[in-house]
Amino acid sequence: MMNKYFDLITQNTDASIISTGNCKHCNNEFALYDVEKQVLDKQGFKYPDICATCRFRMLYSYLNDRHLYHRKDSLSGESVVSIYSPDYN
Ligand SMILES: [Zn+2]
Repeated sequence: MMNKYFDLITQNTDASIISTGNCKHCNNEFALYDVEKQVLDKQGFKYPDICATCRFRMLYSYLNDRHLYHRKDSLSGESVVSIYSPDYN
């Protein structure tokens, strides 16, 4: 299945595609744009190997994780991520 949403972006903006690749997490095809490449080159970052959806998914899981508690599960004793603090009984 080819996900060609990025062709819509180049049709409606000045952005052009430098290269395309497959996401290492979900294997969907994604594009690297010239404006994105300029920013990455200027900042010295390496080019992405995961798609924008997976990048946002990782970002939001990190942001959500900051508002959760890491504690031991009361039944299994395993480390879990929970909305309840360790003090909650
Ligand atoms: Zn992906």
